[in-house]
Amino acid sequence: MCGIIAYTGDRQAAQLLLDGLSKLEYRGYDSTGISVIDPKDGPKVHKSSGKLQVLLDILGNNLPSGTIGIGHTRWATHGKPTDFNAHPHTDCSTDVVVAHNGIVENYLEIKDELQREGHKFASETDSEVLPHLIERFMAQGYTLEESMRNSAQRIRGAHAVVAASRHEPGKIVAFRLGNAGGIVVGYGKNEMLLASDIPALLNHTKTVAYLGAGETVSITNNQVTYSLLDGTPVGKKPSQVSYDPLSAAKGNYPHFMIKEIHEQPEAVVNTLRERISFDEFRTTLDEFPFSDKEVREFNRVVLIGMGTSLHAAMVGQTWIESLTRIPTEANNSSEYRYRNPIIDKRTLVISIAQSGETADTVSAMEMAKNLGARQITLCNIEGAQSTRIADGTMFIRAGLEVGVASSKTFVCSLTTLLVLAIYIAERRGTLSENHARELVTELSRLPNMLGSLLSNEQQYQTLARDYGNYSNFLFLGRGINHPLALEGALKLKEISYIHAEGYQAGEMKHGPISLIDKNMPIVALIPQDDLYEKMFNNMNEAAARGGKVIAIASEGDSEVEGIAEHVIYVPATSPLINPIPMAVPMQLFAYEIAVHRGCEIDQPRNLAKSVTVE
Ligand code: GLU
Repeated sequence: MCGIIAYTGDRQAAQLLLDGLSKLEYRGYDSTGISVIDPKDGPKVHKSSGKLQVLLDILGNNLPSGTIGIGHTRWATHGKPTDFNAHPHTDCSTDVVVAHNGIVENYLEIKDELQREGHKFASETDSEVLPHLIERFMAQGYTLEESMRNSAQRIRGAHAVVAASRHEPGKIVAFRLGNAGGIVVGYGKNEMLLASDIPALLNHTKTVAYLGAGETVSITNNQVTYSLLDGTPVGKKPSQVSYDPLSAAKGNYPHFMIKEIHEQPEAVVNTLRERISFDEFRTTLDEFPFSDKEVREFNRVVLIGMGTSLHAAMVGQTWIESLTRIPTEANNSSEYRYRNPIIDKRTLVISIAQSGETADTVSAMEMAKNLGARQITLCNIEGAQSTRIADGTMFIRAGLEVGVASSKTFVCSLTTLLVLAIYIAERRGTLSENHARELVTELSRLPNMLGSLLSNEQQYQTLARDYGNYSNFLFLGRGINHPLALEGALKLKEISYIHAEGYQAGEMKHGPISLIDKNMPIVALIPQDDLYEKMFNNMNEAAARGGKVIAIASEGDSEVEGIAEHVIYVPATSPLINPIPMAVPMQLFAYEIAVHRGCEIDQPRNLAKSVTVE
């Protein structure tokens, strides 16, 4: 879950590492550290609990000198976020430095063994067994690379590990095991870099290669070699990335999250580009990997995801089932992978993971692959792990999302899923021409619809003033909007730390209604659809018990004003499209409340952007 950066080249490493870490903080930010290897004195380690800024303040202008180094921003799993638990970690003699992402599942046993051999541990982390293992192997005469491979074979779990040693000047070695965070190799001029994610490399190079699971890389300023864990060389060609470094900057926005919310109209245009023919009212998906015969043979669709991606999957369930008439289910990946599910080659698994690195989703995909499923993944990151497992990838094309709470990646995932549902339905012949025309026309309106939702932000500031001090919220929705109620509650929890629950409105009478009183505001999602009247009754029932209702309703619906304290209007659309514009009020409501409460919006406590541990 953490962020790792490493540099070897001609330039002074410290500033480069610190800059790289600033791009990776979204991956973990409870402590930070860098180690630069001085050619004479060996590795110097500077680390601190807290965010990168704390380390920057400690270092001031006294940056360690040296042209090779490693940096890490941590998301603690073992040992509190203290100075001494921060990475990089070293061996007994500070000859070897290591930054680690993942959990060494058998660290107690290894630590015990190493301590009995006389190794002295300085931290409570599982990670620290790594420098000591490497130290042991190097003392036996192995090179750094061989020692890394030997160490990789000793540890259990999923990992990304980067190490350097004073005994092999200029060299950095990394390996990746399983589905912990990725390692991207950056190719510069007389310099090479490694990073957990592309943004940390973009100021230096756009030429990159991705380390696969079970692979090792060794870099110097002008050389790179790849191998498998048994030492077999691997040939790898770098490719060019298309991200623009400017897109990683906040511009005039106070937070990345609000910037990214505002990018949604444009992001959706990108998502739809070349996938929808607005003249012929049909979809084209060049990336769709299956033949017509295979599409006709699918007898079950399984959607998997976690968090916001799970909510997208739940909306996708309704879209795919209603349009393609294939029985469809949405699942939380971490539950699904342990469920011993029924899967065969007629099962289409659609996974959603914006990072493509979500450990549980990637592992569930591997399980499904082993059982013969056909797979499509929705992903925002080129070269991500999930894209290498699936038969085909639909990039959601949201552009870089830095805010930890997903906004545009949710809307782009939804849009991509709907296009996919229409496409499969067209190929199976379950969608009438008229219905296809209606849906495609509505999709073409989507960017404008999203734009119009961003034009009245003041109402959310008023709402934040009126409601920002409550401690609990209920979000109610029905049918295809129930997952949006879940997403609204999740957004509020994530960035404002207010307790919020999303419920199917029909479930209220079966228990949760007893919670309603004047201290429990209710956000009711009530667009015009088949369930409108039922939802209207549920809203009434809540208001009758003293609950303050904020309704999110379709433009032109004045009925709700009689019951709700406040109405947020969304453009009237066909019921199937509703969830996409509905996402925007959920985001803005949570955002303004978080601003009102003075929360750290882009980096909420305890969270990280890509969850690469189970
Ligand atoms: N398990 C390690 C620790 O707690 C690494 C966590 C991470 O990936 O940041 O230090």
